[in-house]
Amino acid sequence: MRKVAIIGGGYAGMAASVELAAAGVSVTVFEAGKVLGGRARRVDRANRSTANDSPLDNGQHLVIGAYSELLRLMQHCGVDLEAAFLRQPMRLQVEPDFLLACPALPAPLHLAVGLIRAKGLSWAERWALIRTIEVSKWRRWRLRQDMTVVQWLAQQRQPASLIAKFWSPLTLAALNTPLELASAQVLLNVLRDSLGGRRAASDLMLPKVDFSALFPDPAARFVQNKNGYIQLGHRVKRLDSNTHGWCVDGNEQESFSAVICAVPPHQAASLLQPFPELAALAGQLATWPYQPIVTVYLQYAADVQLSTPMLGLADAYSQWVFDRGVTHEQHGLIAVVISAQGLHSGLSHDELALAVQAELHQQLGLPDLVLRQQVITEKRATFACTPDLVRPSNQTAMAGLFLAGDFTAGLAGKDRGEYPATLEGAVRSGVNAARLALKYLAKE
Ligand SMILES: Cc1cc2nc3c(=O)[nH]c(=O)nc-3n(C[C@H](O)[C@H](O)[C@H](O)COP(=O)(O)OP(=O)(O)OC[C@H]3O[C@@H](n4cnc5c(N)ncnc54)[C@H](O)[C@@H]3O)c2cc1C
Repeated sequence: MRKVAIIGGGYAGMAASVELAAAGVSVTVFEAGKVLGGRARRVDRANRSTANDSPLDNGQHLVIGAYSELLRLMQHCGVDLEAAFLRQPMRLQVEPDFLLACPALPAPLHLAVGLIRAKGLSWAERWALIRTIEVSKWRRWRLRQDMTVVQWLAQQRQPASLIAKFWSPLTLAALNTPLELASAQVLLNVLRDSLGGRRAASDLMLPKVDFSALFPDPAARFVQNKNGYIQLGHRVKRLDSNTHGWCVDGNEQESFSAVICAVPPHQAASLLQPFPELAALAGQLATWPYQPIVTVYLQYAADVQLSTPMLGLADAYSQWVFDRGVTHEQHGLIAVVISAQGLHSGLSHDELALAVQAELHQQLGLPDLVLRQQVITEKRATFACTPDLVRPSNQTAMAGLFLAGDFTAGLAGKDRGEYPATLEGAVRSGVNAARLALKYLAKE
């Protein structure tokens, strides 16, 4: 039987494994961690006070209706989407006074009505926003030349107040890159496929379960039911290619016809570096630029809640605030996301938690008493999504070796990626790598 090794059990690796297992290929997933999910995974609470303390995520994530491949694969693995998500039409509320809510009307009416009715905008700001969205749509969301978001917003003559209320929270959430470094073209791609797409594509989908349970765990069950293997706690240190195919960590007893390397760039670099054919690629991946994300969890008394499951704060450390009581039945637990490097980067975890706590008290009226706190910093949360970033394809120069991950360009032959680092980008990359591996196996 044809066998494929998948290194890395994040969203890309698990998507590849489902796609291959569904095609009748025997899959073995090697995952260094104790749980599946990689950068979107379940973590235990620090200082668990009771055995019933339900787990957290390494970072609060958001899914949108445009994540078609992730949603397709989840359903393929038997996940009930209704049960997995709290789904609601697009609603961007940024305190103190901005609200863009798209009503449940067919596209493009949902966006037009949403923009016309947006709250907290002067007529000049509203006109500047509508003009920029309409002109971008008319230009099919393409720029002649990529540039930073700051340059593009200046070109579009967007007022500073509108940038603070709308463009800054949106860009940080979508690209996890400061506006002065972020790619305007990738931001436009995101707008095209969300606000500019079908109405359902802009829906906000807040997971009700942790991020390992959302897709990687059901994917593992799917793979195991198709005679595949999941090896947790196995960090692959070496890949070898020989006349029988590929072997992992010098184990010549077991050969694989192909390998999909679905680990982040800096880790892929050390696995690829021994192969002279891949020296340039390994060099590029070794110096890959990243951006961090911090999630501050604040546990209040169980009756504390937000007015809405998710809202933003303008001009604050706290960018997006989530009420896990609504989604995860973790009553009184508030998750605050701070994307990309910024002023907060110089603060210790305790200092940041205190500052966030004060903001939520002053701006949202939450109590100033917090029962417990936990701050999780992911230093390499996503790649820095900069203009014209050249990204590797899923295909490598070695027969039978493929790359997958949110950082790849996606379609073979293209060296610019469509998407920022997202779950959907990772899943699409995994599916694409699996399809290339299937073509390769068919030829062999
Ligand atoms: C805090 C945070 C918030 C985010 N928010 C969002 C969001 O709201 N929406 C969104 O769409 N995206 C979000 N993202 C981005 C999203 O999580 C990533 O784009 C996606 O999870 C990347 O998946 P991946 O499979 O490409 O890589 P990874 O998740 O990094 O998976 C790689 C896996 O490989 C394993 N591994 C590494 N080396 C080895 C080895 N040698 N042997 C075996 N295994 C190995 C790792 O343990 C890991 O499990 C966020 C990311 C973070 C960190």
